[in-house]
Amino acid sequence: MKTKAIVLLSGGLDSILAARLMLQQGIEVEAISFATSFCNCSQAELSANELGIKLRLIDIFDEIMGIIKHPKHGYGKGINPCIDCHTLMLKKAREYMLGTRASFVATGEVLGQRPMSQHLRAMRLIEKESGLEGLLLRPLSARLLKSTIPEQEGWIDREKLLDISGRSRKPQMALAKELNIKEYSTPAGGCLLTDSMFAKKMRDLLAHTPDPSWNDVQLLKLGRHFRLSDRLKVVVARNDEENKRLLNLLENGDTTLMVSNQKGPLSVCKGEINREQQLVVAAITARYSDDKGESGIVMSNGFGKEEILLVQPMDDVEIGMLRI
Ligand code: SF4
Repeated sequence: MKTKAIVLLSGGLDSILAARLMLQQGIEVEAISFATSFCNCSQAELSANELGIKLRLIDIFDEIMGIIKHPKHGYGKGINPCIDCHTLMLKKAREYMLGTRASFVATGEVLGQRPMSQHLRAMRLIEKESGLEGLLLRPLSARLLKSTIPEQEGWIDREKLLDISGRSRKPQMALAKELNIKEYSTPAGGCLLTDSMFAKKMRDLLAHTPDPSWNDVQLLKLGRHFRLSDRLKVVVARNDEENKRLLNLLENGDTTLMVSNQKGPLSVCKGEINREQQLVVAAITARYSDDKGESGIVMSNGFGKEEILLVQPMDDVEIGMLRI
């Protein structure tokens, strides 16, 4: 019977290479990937198909939101709690390994590649806190790290593993060329939590909504965001596509505004809104509309009641002061 490994597959080059290195050594590979709502996991599915391996997608949205609120090991440059997030993923991988009678877990981590979670001390910490001590193989950097049980037991030939370290991606690119791997996603899967603009919006959300829903988080990915009070946030779409996506995220009680000839953005108000604030949102909506609001702004309270507001577009300095 073949030895089986669980590989964390994001669809990024490093994780694809880790899976290929395991397959080359005759290991049976099953992949897992995580739906966080902050990364695009579609590349993981494509990569698993390309590799000819089974992929299990695990939803960790609720758990990762808990971690974002209170990360034990802090944040990276955005609001990315990479050490805790990675530990969570590896805990899940361990559970999956035990449930599928696999023998160990492999990842595409590279020593020294990411400042927060891929230096030696963090890698050891993550291994220990995930409960995978000795059973976590990092094939791309394995020869620079302490030997693991799969190597000691001879399930894997350590000499055929790699000794890549640092931030340069040249060794991985060269290996990708050699192995004819052409399709892969950006490093870290383009995780939004590392993006400083997204981090700002997420911090504002957490400061005003202690327990954000999936819907609240999807809204952060769209439009321009404005904070009018502790109880009122406004999201203004940037194009037609965002208008449609915002409509799909409407909830009971949301107030919407749009220029009456519909040649402009949809603005969605989340929270309690008074008359003065209605006029402010109308002025913001006019600013981003093609006719600058001349045809009037239609405001709907979400329960079928509509009203036309006539306002001057807000100037950019004022808008800048309200922008999150
Ligand atoms: S980059 Fe994002 S998904 Fe990756 S470990 Fe960090 S927080 Fe988690």
